[in-house]
Amino acid sequence: YHDCTLYSTLMPCFLCAGAVVQFQIPRVIVGESRTFPGARDFMEAHGVRVIDYDLERCRLMMETFIQEYPDLWYEDIGEK
Ligand SMILES: [Zn+2]
Repeated sequence: YHDCTLYSTLMPCFLCAGAVVQFQIPRVIVGESRTFPGARDFMEAHGVRVIDYDLERCRLMMETFIQEYPDLWYEDIGEK
């Protein structure tokens, strides 16, 4: 994975960021991080280059998902 780039709709959580660091993925491209701030600082502290495009399209996708599946979302982020 040393020459891979990971693409994600939103900022990876600490669980996913841990996998990024463990497998030494050097770059993470993120659609947005307003919905969920995730673990950017953790990845950057381990030398991962994180690029956040802050795309409206991704924000709208996440807002729609959260409206339609709030129980799933809040369980997924550990707030339920
Ligand atoms: Zn995750």
